[in-house]
Amino acid sequence: MARDTLERYREKRRFDRTAEPEGAESASDGRLYVVQKHAARRLHYDLRLQLGDTLKSWAVTRGPSLDPADRRLAVHVEDHPLEYGGFEGTIPKGEYGGGAVIVWDRGTWVPIGDPEEGYRKGRLKFRLAGEKLQGGWTLARMHTRGERTDNWLLIKERDTYARPGEGDAIYTEAPESVLSGQPIESLQEEAPPKRSAKRRAQTPKVGRLAGARAAALPAFVPP
Ligand code: MN
Repeated sequence: MARDTLERYREKRRFDRTAEPEGAESASDGRLYVVQKHAARRLHYDLRLQLGDTLKSWAVTRGPSLDPADRRLAVHVEDHPLEYGGFEGTIPKGEYGGGAVIVWDRGTWVPIGDPEEGYRKGRLKFRLAGEKLQGGWTLARMHTRGERTDNWLLIKERDTYARPGEGDAIYTEAPESVLSGQPIESLQEEAPPKRSAKRRAQTPKVGRLAGARAAALPAFVPP
């Protein structure tokens, strides 16, 4: 693992004094953590935690709650590639997960205990160091045999980052993307309008015009 091979490299340097890179993230330094706000058929928040070289993923229907008394359903979904953690954009309507996606929060996570084992056993304890979500959290698999989905619960630990009684306040206080600073609505407005049937009918067909030839549009049309 990178941790062992870079240990001596790191011991010799003080990264608050030198601009040299500290090296790839390792278990003790934290791994990539992302929450994407996804305006699909139903708005939800996708929690992703890097484990190995993929992002383990849960769709959190109502988003993580900062109230420890408020356990949130987190449906375990398929692994996503690491690069997905930087994805923002609009998935076309009719495609899988069609709708706008923004990176609502991002940072690193630090597992408490062996994360591979915790993930396998359905009990992950960790700390988040994001821009919006911090402190201790637990993901615990529900014992629901026969269910079609793999349901987990996401629970905030009682610590200084917890906000009892106002678990959802963060969503109205900070609805925007941590990458662009824009709310998800800006992406929804950006979606290219479909050419209307009326407009299509008005476009003359080349074949009907005498002497007309199909040609590529010029790159620049002077005003
Ligand atoms: Mn999603």
